[in-house]
Amino acid sequence: MSSIAQSLEKIRNRVTVLEHRYGRPAGAVRVLAVSKTKPAEAVRAAAEAGQRDFGENHVQDALSKLDALADLDLVWHFIGPIQSNKTRIVATRFDWVHSLDRTKIASRLSEQRGEDLPPLNVCIQVNVSGEPSKSGIAPAELDAFAQFVAGLPRLKLRGLMTLPRPCDELALQRRPFAALREMLEGLNAGGFGLDTLSMGMTDDMEAAIAEGATIVRIGTAIFGAREPASPSAGPARVSGSRPPG
Ligand SMILES: *Cc1c(COP(=O)(O)O)cnc(C)c1O
Repeated sequence: MSSIAQSLEKIRNRVTVLEHRYGRPAGAVRVLAVSKTKPAEAVRAAAEAGQRDFGENHVQDALSKLDALADLDLVWHFIGPIQSNKTRIVATRFDWVHSLDRTKIASRLSEQRGEDLPPLNVCIQVNVSGEPSKSGIAPAELDAFAQFVAGLPRLKLRGLMTLPRPCDELALQRRPFAALREMLEGLNAGGFGLDTLSMGMTDDMEAAIAEGATIVRIGTAIFGAREPASPSAGPARVSGSRPPG
């Protein structure tokens, strides 16, 4: 068995244990394998071990992988900041976007989603902890933005995503995830019918599952550590990498 296959098995077992521990139904949490910065062969090894969902955060890096793996039936999720000149690629080559936080980008994705494809699944990224330099919309703007996105014909609003400030303590890690779950419940009380909470990574997966994650986005624990230097290597946005609007 490849080491990627072993890591995947470990993660799946851990998800099962955590679902049980926190009273979640078996199979409630889907693992999204975050393959950013990793080569196509790593994705292929994971696919051979039964993994179908993969996450990328850099359009150009992702494209060569999507092309190299076109023979496989995979589900591709875009999880990074989207520049407006890259929306067409995201709209035509991806199945999901987790990082929607601007009306202009949402409109473009809807306009550019091919008529031959099903609507693009999207999650709104919320900046729960209110960090000024971070992607995601402010909680106060969520209702209006969700209304806007839900009205776009070629997008299917599925839920919310967040990427909180890292912290080590389980109880503290749970707070922003609990806040995101409450926002989802609030939208659903207003009739949105959302089914997705995309939250939790390698280091805070337990907290996210405890608070209701339906998708955990796992990179390091599946593929190993990433090279730190590249701007596409981490969740942090490089300042100035995103045009205004
Ligand atoms: C890189 C990344 C992840 C995965 O992080 P790990 O700590 O490697 O599991 C999850 N979500 C987003 C948005 C990312 O950019």
